[in-house]
Amino acid sequence: MPTSSTAATLPLVVSTWPFGKDANEKALQTLTAGRSLLDAVVEGITVTEYDLSVPSVGAGGAPNAEGVISLDACIMDGPTHHCGSVGAVEGILPAIRLARAVMEKTQHVMLVGDGARRFALANGFSHTPMLTDGQREAWLKWKAQNAPAGAAPPDSHDTIALVVLGADGNLAGGCSTSGRAYKLPGRVGDSPIIGSGLYVDNDVGAAGATGVGENVMRFCGSFQVVELMRAGAHPQEACAETIRRIQRKHAPGTRLDINFLAIDKRGRFGAAGSGAGFPFAVTYPGFSQVLSSAQVPDTK
Ligand code: ASP
Repeated sequence: MPTSSTAATLPLVVSTWPFGKDANEKALQTLTAGRSLLDAVVEGITVTEYDLSVPSVGAGGAPNAEGVISLDACIMDGPTHHCGSVGAVEGILPAIRLARAVMEKTQHVMLVGDGARRFALANGFSHTPMLTDGQREAWLKWKAQNAPAGAAPPDSHDTIALVVLGADGNLAGGCSTSGRAYKLPGRVGDSPIIGSGLYVDNDVGAAGATGVGENVMRFCGSFQVVELMRAGAHPQEACAETIRRIQRKHAPGTRLDINFLAIDKRGRFGAAGSGAGFPFAVTYPGFSQVLSSAQVPDTK
């Protein structure tokens, strides 16, 4: 099974984790129906945000330490280099659509917290109560242990980061997550930070991240991946080299837990993770599969 490519048929959609496959397929359908790259990003990620079986994104997501779901999302358009983002927004779905509204209807790139929520309500979104019974029970159990906020079980987070290369050679991408389970209220991760959880450069390629956001945002991870591709690296090598750079500065003995995926302007894709076999979904006409990336060993 391939883990990276020479060049895919276009349009090409690549996203994080096995749940990304449904999002990719919706994105490809959206493009096939003649709609725009941004529509494809929003429609694809919206599938994941409404999928209650995904425990780390949108309506099925994990709450913060106070039992409230607080969403982070962003979107970026290659041709215009415009972007929009929301951080720690509560009660609004889909967050990716709200990020697009920030990009298209304001003079700003990012809105957070209550301001983002009020902007949503003033722009056609309605308040959506969230928190599945399963997430509520897990949160109550966590609370009963008196663990500090943010000290969630490992692997209690994940993001959909989705990047797309259109048949016309243009790029776009988006991200959405409920972030780290039981985080401090107000915590914003890498996902809505342009250059950290996502970056798109229409001349070069696009990259997205998932994993412990703090370990991505300290290094502007997705920006580094794109810059390495600009310098000539294959997307897979750009992801792996970014992880190696971060590993060199990261405190030994602590778990890094980060993953990147990338596509380039030529239709090549790749991914790499600090742990074993990061699964990522790749979809293009006639092909839609979850692949497993190589692990980048920490040689420190
Ligand atoms: N990067 C996300 C965050 O830290 C979580 C994840 O992708 O696992 O909020």
